[in-house]
Amino acid sequence: MSDEGLGIGHAEGMALFVKDAVVGDRVRAKAVKVKKNYAFARTEEVLQPSEDRAEPICPVARSCGGCQIQEMRYEAQLRLKEQKVRNNLTRIGGFYIDDDRIINNADMKETGSGEEISDVGIFCPIIGMDSPWKYRNKAQFPIGTGRDGKPIAGFYAGRTHSIIDNHRCDIGIEENRIILETVLDWMERNHVSAYNEETGKGIIRHVMTRAGFATGQLMAVIVAAAERLPEEKQLTEALLSAVNSHEAASCGRRQFRLTSIILNTNKEKTNVILGSGSRALFGEDYIEDKIGELTYRISSKSFYQVNPAQTRVLYETALSYAGLTGKETVWDLYCGTGTISLFLAQRAGKVIGVEVIPDAIKNAEKNAQLNHIDNCQFIVGKAEDLVDRLEKADVIVVDPPRKGLDRIVVDTILESAPERIVYVSCDSATLARDLKLFSEGGYQLKKVQPVDMFPHTVHVETVVLLTRNT
Ligand code: SAH
Repeated sequence: MSDEGLGIGHAEGMALFVKDAVVGDRVRAKAVKVKKNYAFARTEEVLQPSEDRAEPICPVARSCGGCQIQEMRYEAQLRLKEQKVRNNLTRIGGFYIDDDRIINNADMKETGSGEEISDVGIFCPIIGMDSPWKYRNKAQFPIGTGRDGKPIAGFYAGRTHSIIDNHRCDIGIEENRIILETVLDWMERNHVSAYNEETGKGIIRHVMTRAGFATGQLMAVIVAAAERLPEEKQLTEALLSAVNSHEAASCGRRQFRLTSIILNTNKEKTNVILGSGSRALFGEDYIEDKIGELTYRISSKSFYQVNPAQTRVLYETALSYAGLTGKETVWDLYCGTGTISLFLAQRAGKVIGVEVIPDAIKNAEKNAQLNHIDNCQFIVGKAEDLVDRLEKADVIVVDPPRKGLDRIVVDTILESAPERIVYVSCDSATLARDLKLFSEGGYQLKKVQPVDMFPHTVHVETVVLLTRNT
């Protein structure tokens, strides 16, 4: 399977990347785009289903761009993701992995005399979810106009901006559907139009929700190309009664209370969802959530991990790999809203968080205050510009975006020679590229732990521990 979740098959001497085909399937596929040596194709019929094939729960699993591998049994998804990490570490990183053992400096070992190898690391089996549904705490639904002129809401079809009308998403919370239907109903009743991306005309652009899984607090954000809405009060009351009323709460298995309704204004011709201005129609512009013992305040605009259950697993793994005793100075590079920094601070002497987005740093400072943590310092700027100016660290944690670490960051980390490096990665290809550099710079790969943060998608998160050669 390709990194994008396309099945790779062969026909007439050509490699085909087949949408909606699972490893082990025999399918009749239609080539949709033919290149010189390969082609993209679409599954027309499954002739012989793979053992790994599952009936998708979602009726629009194929057309929606959100889940790429819902047609695969969850255990098979986990195997696929673990294999992807292994392959990248082997092919790009140059590591030799034998089952659960990672042999550092494999090329040097080949000529060795068979003596005991001491520099082995452990590849830990991927940690999946017990129930891989309703895990997302955030959802964003584009609003558009259907063929009959009525407002619709749903998802963009894969790689396009055409909206598939669908109000139920099984990786999100049930309340999303109620919120969407209430907004659509209010739009129809008051003749409020949906925004049209092409013409730039119309009002309602998106509905976004964020939920605090530990606190039960729920925020609904209406994104509009306007500062005011007609019948705002009617909308607010309809939403509160639909989600919070006793009848609503008791008839389903719902668990969230709407505590905040936000009107966000975005008049720009852009596909960035949120605009700069927002105003609370009800409650405050934040909800709170907890991960482990820590409380985080999340505004409509702040970055926050979308799968809180697995985030806890990820952070606890990072914390245990950091091996802190209470005295260490720790860098948390690419710290976002300081979520990992605060986790580390509970066991470190001092944590320095670095992040490029000023708002995220404001959130980080607020979150530190909220949790009475005073051994964290947060700095706004690019990691590559700042690392050579920070006080020396005993442990360095990095959690970069998909493109991985800038070469300067790798070199500066190597120069500062911390005992341990903990690398949290959302892209195992760039991770493997960077690990090779650390390995060549005198570090050993001690632990690799893939974590499934995004079931039914092809994404996989990995936590890695590197220690300095002694
Ligand atoms: N560790 C955080 C966020 C990780 S996401 C968490 O777990 O919640 C990666 C973060 O890196 C984002 O917040 C992004 O804004 C930030 N970022 C991207 N490029 C950066 C750079 N060059 N220097 C510092 N931070 C950067």
